[in-house]
Amino acid sequence: MPDVKLHELESAVENGEFVYYYQPKISLVTGRISGAEALIRWIRTDGEIVLPNRFIPLAESTGFITEISLAMFPKLVTDALIVNDVNAKLVTAFNLSAKDFENRHLLHAIQDASGRIDLARLGAELTEASVIGLGNSSALGNLRELAESGIRLAMDDFGTGYSSIDTLSRLPFDIIKLDQGLISRMSDSERSATIVLASIRMAHQLGMEIVAEGIETASAYDFLLHAGCSEVQGFWIAKPMPLDDYLAFIRKDQIWTGLPTGLIHMAILDHVQWRQQLISRVTSLAFNGRVDEAAIRASDVEVDHHQCKLGRWYYGVGQAFRGHPVFDRLEEPHRLLHQAGFDLLESARQGLSRSELTRQMRMLTHQSSRIIELLQELESEAMIDLSLKRV
Ligand code: C2E
Ligand code: MG
Ligand code: MG
Repeated sequence: MPDVKLHELESAVENGEFVYYYQPKISLVTGRISGAEALIRWIRTDGEIVLPNRFIPLAESTGFITEISLAMFPKLVTDALIVNDVNAKLVTAFNLSAKDFENRHLLHAIQDASGRIDLARLGAELTEASVIGLGNSSALGNLRELAESGIRLAMDDFGTGYSSIDTLSRLPFDIIKLDQGLISRMSDSERSATIVLASIRMAHQLGMEIVAEGIETASAYDFLLHAGCSEVQGFWIAKPMPLDDYLAFIRKDQIWTGLPTGLIHMAILDHVQWRQQLISRVTSLAFNGRVDEAAIRASDVEVDHHQCKLGRWYYGVGQAFRGHPVFDRLEEPHRLLHQAGFDLLESARQGLSRSELTRQMRMLTHQSSRIIELLQELESEAMIDLSLKRV
C-alpha cells in the first residue's frame, strides 16, 4: 500500500474509521488483569486494518494528531465505561502525543469527562521522546494540570536513549513503562537485565510504578515477577484485540502467577537504606556540631513505622501475606526498630557520649537483623511455594 496521505487521515476521522484495540495488562502482585492499553487501529472501508506506525508519524509531524486525539477521546470514555461495568477496578490507558498539550482543547475534554467517569480509571501514556521537547513551554504546564486531574501518567518507551532520568525528575509521571526493546534484550544480555533491575529499583525509590511491555516469553514474565515489577503487558499474555474480545477476556477472570516476591526483595533493600540514612543522620547530629541542613533534608528519615517504605509495603501490598506466620512476626521488631531510631535521634540531639550512642545503635541493629532475617525467610518460602505450584 502506498504512503498514507493527510487528506486520507482527515476523511478517516470524518467517517469514524478509527477504533481502539485493547491489550490487557496483568498485575504481578495479584496475578489478575489490572486494565488494558488502548491502541489505535484504522479500519479502512475495504476492511484493511492499518497499524499506527503507518500513520501516527505523519499525524504527529503535521499536527493532525491533535484532531485524532480529540475525536477519539469520547470513544475511549464510552469504551472504558463499558469495561468498568464488567469490572469497576480496571484502568484503561491510552496514548497521547506531547503535541496534544500545545493547546488546552484535549486537557479540557479530559477534565470535562470527570462528570462521566472517575479519571483514576484512565491512564495516559506519553513517550519519553515526545516529552523531551516540551522544555518550559505552556505544554508542560498543561501536562502538569492533567496530572492534577487524577489521571495516571505513564512515561512510555522508557530506556530508548533520551535524557530519561533528568526528564523524570521534572515531569509529573506516576508510572514508568519500560521499552520492549530492553525487555527483549534482557534474556541474552546481562547488561540489559541489569538495566531493567536498576530501572525497577529507581522507579520504586521515586515512588513510581513500573510496567514492562513486550513480554513474549514465560521466562521474561518470571524474571519481572521476581524483580519487583508492578505490571506486565505483551503477546505472551494477549495481543491487542477488539473491545468485544477484550470484554470476553475480562469475564474469563484468568489467573496468572502473581506473588509479590520481588517486592519482598525491595522491602529488604528499603530497610537497609533506611537504617543507613538514620545512622548517617544520627552521626551528623551527634558529632558535626553545626549540621548541614541540605544534607539532612537529603537523608530525611521517616520515623513513623507506617510511613517508611517498609511500612508502606507492610501495610499496603505486603498484606497479601497476612496470616503467614513469618509475615505476622515482622510487625513487632519493625515497631521496636522505629522506637529505637526515634530514641537514637533524640539522644544525638542531646549530645550523648559515644559509648551511650554505640549502645543504642546496637539495640537498633538487633531489631534490624531480626527484620532482615524474617524478610529473607518470607522471600525464600514464597519462592518455594511458587515453584511447588508449578511442579
Ligand atoms: P506503544 O504505546 O509503546 O504500544 C505498544 C506497542 O507494542 C503496540 O504496537 C503493541 O501492539 C506492541 N506490542 C505489545 N506487546 C508486544 C509484544 O509482546 N511483542 C511485540 N513485538 N510488540 C508488542 P502498536 O499497536 O502497533 O502501536 C505502536 C505505537 O503507536 C504505540 O507504541 C504508540 O506509541 C503509538 N500509538 C498507538 N495508538 C496510539 C494513539 O491512539 N495515539 C497516539 N498518539 N499514539 C498511538
Ligand atoms: Mg503506549
Ligand atoms: Mg511503548
